[in-house]
Amino acid sequence: MSRVAIVTGGGRGIGAATAKKLAADGMAVAVVDLDESTAGETADAIKQAGGTVIAVGADVSDAAQVAAAVERVAAELGAPTVLVNNAGVLRDNLLFKMSDDDWETVMSVHLRGAFLFSRAVQKHMVDAGYGRIVSLSSTSALGNRGQANYATAKAGLQGFTKTLAIELGRFGITANAVAPGFIATDMTQATAKRVGVDWDDFVKNAVSQIPVGRAGAPEDVANTVSFLVSEGAGFVSGQVIYVAGGPRA
Ligand code: NAP
Repeated sequence: MSRVAIVTGGGRGIGAATAKKLAADGMAVAVVDLDESTAGETADAIKQAGGTVIAVGADVSDAAQVAAAVERVAAELGAPTVLVNNAGVLRDNLLFKMSDDDWETVMSVHLRGAFLFSRAVQKHMVDAGYGRIVSLSSTSALGNRGQANYATAKAGLQGFTKTLAIELGRFGITANAVAPGFIATDMTQATAKRVGVDWDDFVKNAVSQIPVGRAGAPEDVANTVSFLVSEGAGFVSGQVIYVAGGPRA
């Protein structure tokens, strides 16, 4: 049976790779991004590969926009029963320099965004008696210098995931988190820039601490999400899978 999946922050990076992978798995995919034209680029690539897709512009932290996005997906593709909470931002700073806005923005996009989207799609999942929710955590949930806001949000998503698993399990819905380590995307490139380290040196330094001896690619995360949202993963719920090339960050 063909499922309808929503991938937030699907315009680039991990979200784009995940949207492409789920479409290749046979799902109809709604690519949600702040910027509808960025979502459109991912959607065009999926269309060209023969997939079924729509691009939706929405800010995950805005309740009205989230509700409208989910309604549009249900009307155009069918009831969404797969959700990947992937949209994310960084506002890194040491605690003494972190502004109120740095804190609020990160909480809004990661935590409020995952909450709003999960709440909006759960009705469709409960009605279908089936659902798969995957939220993007991070190895930063274990603590990371300069990321008091982000580490808090990513740890929060783990608690959110475990609670959804407990509440929604009886309706055939699983909830899991994927916690990537170092993945080469625009986000990590922006971090290298912010700390003033040349990208190649930044990657080299990260790789020196990764047991499998390479940087992660968006596809590494997409493949893991693909498993967790598959029908066959129905007895895996409330878990946090670290996709980090080793046991730790
Ligand atoms: P990325 O390249 O920066 O992409 C993030 C995407 O989220 C962008 O398309 C962005 O849209 C979108 N987005 C941001 N705010 C949004 C909002 N309010 N509403 C809707 N969409 C929004 O990041 P990434 O590296 O692929 O990361 C994806 C996820 O994995 C994030 O949750 C991140 O925290 C997590 N993660 C990444 C790494 C890593 O090493 N890269 C490691 C651990 C966890 P615009 O393009 O319009 O800004």
